[in-house]
Amino acid sequence: MINSHEQFLFGATLTVDCQALRQNWLHLKSKSGSAECAAVVKANGYGLGLELVVPELWSAGCRTFFVAIPIEAQTVRQLAPQATVYLLGGLYQGAEAWLHNFAIRPVLGSVEELKSWSAYCQSQSCKLPAAIHFDTGMNRLGLLPEDTEIIEPLLKDFNCTLVMSHLACADEPKPDFNQNQLKKFDRIANFYPNCNASLANSAGVFLGTDYHFQMTRPGIAIYGGTALPGPTPLAPVVHLSSRVIQIRTAASGETVGYGGRQMVQRDTRLAIIATGYADGYLRAGGCENDKAGALAYCAGHYIPVCGRISMDLIALDVTDVPDDKIERGTLIELLGAHIKIDDLATRCGTIGYEILTNLGGRYNRNAINHSPNSQV
Ligand SMILES: *Cc1c(COP(=O)(O)O)cnc(C)c1O
Repeated sequence: MINSHEQFLFGATLTVDCQALRQNWLHLKSKSGSAECAAVVKANGYGLGLELVVPELWSAGCRTFFVAIPIEAQTVRQLAPQATVYLLGGLYQGAEAWLHNFAIRPVLGSVEELKSWSAYCQSQSCKLPAAIHFDTGMNRLGLLPEDTEIIEPLLKDFNCTLVMSHLACADEPKPDFNQNQLKKFDRIANFYPNCNASLANSAGVFLGTDYHFQMTRPGIAIYGGTALPGPTPLAPVVHLSSRVIQIRTAASGETVGYGGRQMVQRDTRLAIIATGYADGYLRAGGCENDKAGALAYCAGHYIPVCGRISMDLIALDVTDVPDDKIERGTLIELLGAHIKIDDLATRCGTIGYEILTNLGGRYNRNAINHSPNSQV
């Protein structure tokens, strides 16, 4: 998998499968029916890298991107000069002229923000585009239904291109919660017949046509995270493999790692790999006597973490892997076809989003690509 000839410079390699990335987006697009399928690329493209993700999605046909903070919007603008870029974090104080200059559309989420944007548009004598965001159950960002009257006169000052809301429980078995939000949002969207409407995140795409409106906004599913429980139609995009730097044996009764929290119950062969929490491999994946940890994969075997995760190292119990299948220099799968983002997340007590957005800056990062017009 490592295609750099200087692979010995790195402890681990992170490979992004660009074809899988495009395929996943195309799958979400087909699931979105007649609605436009946008892409959420906040947090540096969910940790995969905006420079990689944005051109790939653009080449697959994506034309609308959502980011969280202004600096991300600026990067997307540079990578995709023709794209429509929405800023989910809204209108930061003093950002009006900057947004105008970079043609970024703020997602306005409070009366205050709407007032500032309409005042700026008036001062420039032009109706700049923006989205308006209503809260229907998150209590995070967003206007309240009762703000409708207050904002009515402000809407004539700018070009409201999108009215949106965000689902709180799309990926949980809470159909009533989703339907309640859908009902609320439907009422709001009807109020703005000239704006496109958008409600669905990744999991929302799979909730059916009612949730699609004119635009869907998937994020995690593009990157291979499971949007819903059960088998996933999405391909793994992230492949992380770490090199074995030493194989050793701990005798039955000895402990492994900091704190001596795991005592091995048999003579145990350990593979020490060159990845740790400094690489974003969550420390919560460590194993203790009374707590199972994360799994890695090698040569047909799932191999458990042994002891705590160190800053730069992890010990894996490879007693069950045949001798001839593992040695110094062998690459161990930490994420990929066998170790799914969501499975690792569950074992670390978290969610796939956190696994991806923690992917560290120390990896040998590269891309595999089957498309002739994309760069590796
Ligand atoms: C992050 C985010 C999304 C994408 O959510 P996923 O669950 O990753 O698909 C969509 N809309 C908003 C407002 C978001 O913050």
